[in-house]
Amino acid sequence: MTKRVFEAWKGSNKFILGGRLVFGPDAKSLPATLLLIIVPVVLFCVFVARHLRHEFSPYNAGYAILVLAILFTIYVLILLSFTSARDPGIVPRNSHPPEEELRYETTISADGRQTPSVQIPRTKEVIVNGISVRVKYCDTCMLYRPPRCSHCSICNNCVERFDHHCPWVGQCIGLRNYRYFFMFVSSATLLCIYVFSMSALYIKILMDNQHGTVWRAMKESPWAVVLMVYCFIALWFVGGLTGFHLYLISTNQTTYENFRYRPNSRMIVYNRGCAKNFMEVFCSKVKPSRNNFRAFIEEEPPRVVTLPSTTRESAEAEDDNVARRQKVEDDLDIGDDLMNFSQRCNSEDANNDQPHNTVDIDPERAATIRTETRHESWGRRSGNWDVASTDVRESRNYAAAKDGRG
Ligand SMILES: [Zn+2]
Ligand SMILES: [Zn+2]
Repeated sequence: MTKRVFEAWKGSNKFILGGRLVFGPDAKSLPATLLLIIVPVVLFCVFVARHLRHEFSPYNAGYAILVLAILFTIYVLILLSFTSARDPGIVPRNSHPPEEELRYETTISADGRQTPSVQIPRTKEVIVNGISVRVKYCDTCMLYRPPRCSHCSICNNCVERFDHHCPWVGQCIGLRNYRYFFMFVSSATLLCIYVFSMSALYIKILMDNQHGTVWRAMKESPWAVVLMVYCFIALWFVGGLTGFHLYLISTNQTTYENFRYRPNSRMIVYNRGCAKNFMEVFCSKVKPSRNNFRAFIEEEPPRVVTLPSTTRESAEAEDDNVARRQKVEDDLDIGDDLMNFSQRCNSEDANNDQPHNTVDIDPERAATIRTETRHESWGRRSGNWDVASTDVRESRNYAAAKDGRG
């Protein structure tokens, strides 16, 4: 039976409704977040807004307070679902390292024997808006991360324009849901302010009606007091977060970049001026998902990689290695695996009893190695690197790539 993409998904995501909705692995915190929003609003409607209905009697304007609270809460919950139930911008994994990046090297040892090896540069340089940016190779996803992309250790995916992993919404915040995340946080701030001020208004009205003190009014409606305290505390959290993200948006930074890098040229690369930065977040079209979680997985035909060879014996040894390599395929660390592969070739050669008179230095000959046959298509839609409207060009820099791992 052919599986769907979400059924064979290698990240830690949780899927429901047959892959239509995708969450992070910690989505179980979502009900708690929902309760933190819904319970105070229900208390507000029952103990405050219900009494305010008839306070502005000539026009029944009091009803508007109740209706507005309910509608605004629904709006906040819709934004929450847009943030946490959709693809945040996951870059689909490759089933094998990018072939065009593989380097085939033959090292010649002191005794004249040749050892073929396959390597992949750990980093490469791409040009973003005319400035060179180094991007890293992800061993797990077997791809060069696009600029601003990072691997989320919780979801175990590379996510484009990775901002952070939010435990409250149980999802990564990235290219495709950052706008909704910000709207959710800022709307929650407004909801807090609204509930706080309406509760304060109710206390004021109780005071005026009974010509009493503020303490008597507070005793009369303890729930209004509880709501004011709750909103005051919550306001520090969501309000602070809103302010911080307003600063990040105005300077076109992600939370990850802000915590990770000192303010340097790396930030300036993406900063297009305050107004354009806001336009980029709020007015640009949300990129379609690169993943079709419901697509059926198609089996790819076995891939063939040719390696320059030295001897027939070494080709056979390589075939052995390939057979052994298939067993560790699920370690996912194929990048490292390829490194080990070349090291193993070295050690195999060292253990080889036959001296170097078997070496046949013929550059024309090549040993053909069949690599893993279990390659699947992950329902990928697009492989373009597209950092919003910035100009990204790619240039491989193998010299610089040699050092930095990770
Ligand atoms: Zn990755
Ligand atoms: Zn995540």
